[in-house]
Amino acid sequence: MVSRKKLLMGNWKMNHTISDTISFSKAINDFNLVDVASKKGIILAIAPTYLSLDTLKKNAKGLIVSSQDCHYASHGAFTSSISVDMLKEIGVTWSIIGHSEKRQYEGETDLDCNRKIKTLLDNDFTAVYCVGETSKEYDDNLTKDVILSQVRTGLQNIDSSKAKNVVIAYEPVWSIGTGKNASKEIAQDICSYIRSIIKDMFNKDVADNMLILYGGSVKPENIHDYLACSDVDGALVGGASLKADSFKALVDNI
Ligand code: PEP
Repeated sequence: MVSRKKLLMGNWKMNHTISDTISFSKAINDFNLVDVASKKGIILAIAPTYLSLDTLKKNAKGLIVSSQDCHYASHGAFTSSISVDMLKEIGVTWSIIGHSEKRQYEGETDLDCNRKIKTLLDNDFTAVYCVGETSKEYDDNLTKDVILSQVRTGLQNIDSSKAKNVVIAYEPVWSIGTGKNASKEIAQDICSYIRSIIKDMFNKDVADNMLILYGGSVKPENIHDYLACSDVDGALVGGASLKADSFKALVDNI
């Protein structure tokens, strides 16, 4: 069996000012959290707002800093967007793509995600691709159909050599920010299903090495259950990543 590292990634969404970001950075530096995590085989990443990317990068020692989104084009008339070139200039080489809030409130499609992921991979970025079913799709027993089409379309026409820079986050929409987290059995079943899709689309090596995360109301009290699942390689965490104490508790409890 291949042994994969663990990834704990925070998504701050539209939270934290630049000064909040500085305070958070100081606290995790004081905890020496990146080193503590690394000794446990855990990679730490956080996706703050665009405004705080540079601040977090400069202040939080060793932390992987990720964008929450990015455009597929390198520049141009795309008001409010940000490009890989802009991110690269400040040393950011990771981006989340396809978060359910972008899909839900801004109509982002799997094809939009695919264009963005291709741009990221062409620029040697790591793309954290979010997939997950809505509450209605879950109730209608459509979870696996939805996941299959999101993964297949989002990652279409990508070369296996580049797919190694993709991380997938399985985030059931009904569990995000609701406190209604999916059971560890559901998380394991769907993450293992995603790995089988990746094996079909690419190859066993890509599938065996890909990091697949669970996200949705992960807290210090339940993170251990998810990370104990053989196909869950980490967590994408919203609310519980906002405070340094709670982010530290997530690391402590893995
Ligand atoms: C998320 O924003 O991706 C998320 C999982 O949020 P929360 O942990 O707050 O449910």
